[in-house]
Amino acid sequence: MKKRWLNRVYFLLMNLSLCSVLFSTSLFAIEQTSVDEIFTEIESGMAIKPAELTRKLEYLKTHISPDDFPHYLRLQSALCWNHDPTDEKQRAEAVKLADKHLASDKISHFPEIFTDIKLCRAWFYQHQGRVVLALEEYNQVVGDAYQLESTKLIADARSVRGAMYSFQGNFAQALEDLITAQHLYDSLKLEYWSLYNLTELATSYRRFGDPQTALKYYQQLETKFIELGDMNSATGVLSEMAIALEELGEYERALEKYLKAHKYWTEQGSERGSSTIAVNISGTLLKLNRIDEAKAYLTEAGHSVKPNDEAFYSFMKLFEAQVHLMQADPVQALIELDDAKAAFSRVKNTRGMAQLLLLESQSHSAQQDWKQAFSSLEQYLVLHNELDAKLQSNRTTEMRTRFNTKRIETENERLVEYQRIKEHELKIVKQNKQLEYAVLILAFIIIFIISFFAFKQAQKSKLLEVLAMTDHLTQLPNRRHTYATGEKLFSVKPPSLALILFDADNFKSVNDNYGHDIGDKALIELAKISSSHMRKADLVGRVGGEEFLIILPETTLYQATEIAQRLVNSIAKSDLGDIAANFGMTISAGIAAQEKDKSFSELLQRADSALYQAKSEGRNCAVSNTSLSDAETDKA
Ligand code: GH3
Ligand code: MG
Ligand code: MG
Repeated sequence: MKKRWLNRVYFLLMNLSLCSVLFSTSLFAIEQTSVDEIFTEIESGMAIKPAELTRKLEYLKTHISPDDFPHYLRLQSALCWNHDPTDEKQRAEAVKLADKHLASDKISHFPEIFTDIKLCRAWFYQHQGRVVLALEEYNQVVGDAYQLESTKLIADARSVRGAMYSFQGNFAQALEDLITAQHLYDSLKLEYWSLYNLTELATSYRRFGDPQTALKYYQQLETKFIELGDMNSATGVLSEMAIALEELGEYERALEKYLKAHKYWTEQGSERGSSTIAVNISGTLLKLNRIDEAKAYLTEAGHSVKPNDEAFYSFMKLFEAQVHLMQADPVQALIELDDAKAAFSRVKNTRGMAQLLLLESQSHSAQQDWKQAFSSLEQYLVLHNELDAKLQSNRTTEMRTRFNTKRIETENERLVEYQRIKEHELKIVKQNKQLEYAVLILAFIIIFIISFFAFKQAQKSKLLEVLAMTDHLTQLPNRRHTYATGEKLFSVKPPSLALILFDADNFKSVNDNYGHDIGDKALIELAKISSSHMRKADLVGRVGGEEFLIILPETTLYQATEIAQRLVNSIAKSDLGDIAANFGMTISAGIAAQEKDKSFSELLQRADSALYQAKSEGRNCAVSNTSLSDAETDKA
């Protein structure tokens, strides 16, 4: 009974745990979809408002456990890129975060994320002014990305490296990188990244000496960014347009664009945005000979453009020097130029340096220091010739790059095709996963149904088994079960089995006088009385209509005879008035104990003979049978 109860508990627990496993896996699956969707959104490069991006990243932080390593690392990469490159502290934090993850062991199993975090770190190196280190890492990342055949990573790496080459005036490489990235982004339909890359490409054309082409792209980009509601990027393009116009000598139009951008950043409360534009405005105003206005903008810029912001700081100092020179203060001009010089050489801006040397020469001339003036002029000419040669090689490069475009395109198409196959494979893997869930759920349902029916069936057959062994009237073991038990105990060594076979006396007349129902009640009572006389190990079975067999293990003939006698007496004295008025009953019993019997039926036969003898001797008595001689009995 206890065991069956335990079985039931176990069965329930097993189903419950299966249920919870399935539930948690399906809940897990739901959570993963929303996590994956957020990643796709963030990684698409779409303009997300900073507050919303923070909210999304927070969501990811709370929903991704560090044990879920692929998602955890993907999040770390997103967090790395989310630092502000214009803020010194944040740049350092980004590098620190990347350092930490790149040093971990587990990340080596995820080479794409590893490479992406490395790219992020290199990008912040670049913004920290550590350009040599940045380039070194960019080169490694590009190589790794090709090894991994990850199209997106190749595009990202070549886009940022191209932008840096372009800034450094290395147009040959800048164009190759940026054109490659452009094709890849377009093929991957990553619209935002494609636009950002196109901005760099346009700027490269401008720097390369083709402001007309640059302006054409800028125009397209401005329209596109406004269409997408990305006003920050649209304004960024506006500044680039102004620079291109300046190079075309269209200072008034350039100034107009700068002022528009300046107004936007001021309204947005971006001090950095407005102060960096102020540097450019001052340069344009100087070209228009509007010195006082230029000074005002330089003052504004001076409040927030600091030496570590080298790209703008260098030009701010250059323009300040120009103001001093124009106001006949060459001493101060030279002081400012020294500052600018350090910054230009750190960021390796040759064009800025050339402008500076010319101004330096003019400042020395103003001091009538001809020797220094000549030296600066000489240096200027060296750089100027270098730039000229570069311009020449740039033109050849451009020709070659345009010529190579076909090759780049074919290469990119192969990559994109490969990427498509990879994505397709991933989709199949995902579908298989879903199928696995479905099969798992189905299997669970089937297991549940089968175990339920098996459980029911087991209960039923157990009941049938019990019924098959029990006499339905007295609930005692029936003849088959009683004999089977007897057979089993007969073979126990040493032999010590005794049998009492008893039969109701003149039972026919009970039926005749009182009716069959009373006869049945009498049989039930007989079963109860005889059972109550026996020990736990004994078995009372109904083996015939009014005939019962008592099996007594480890019992001698003597003991069994005593028990039988007690039973005979007890029944004869029993008050059976409950069954019918003045009702009484007697039994006769035959006893035999295991002696030389060869089988259980031989032993039973001897008990039956004894019973027959008891009946013959007048009934209501117990008679034992023995096959042993007197001497043998004494010995036993
Ligand atoms: P004896 O003392 O020689 O055993 O006489 P007896 O009448 O008991 O012997 P007999 O074998 O002639 O009769 C047995 C009777 O038991 C016959 C039958 O009607 C009755 N009997 C057998 N099974 C049942 C039963 O399940 N219920 C009832 N009420 N009577 C039964
Ligand atoms: Mg009888
Ligand atoms: Mg009988």
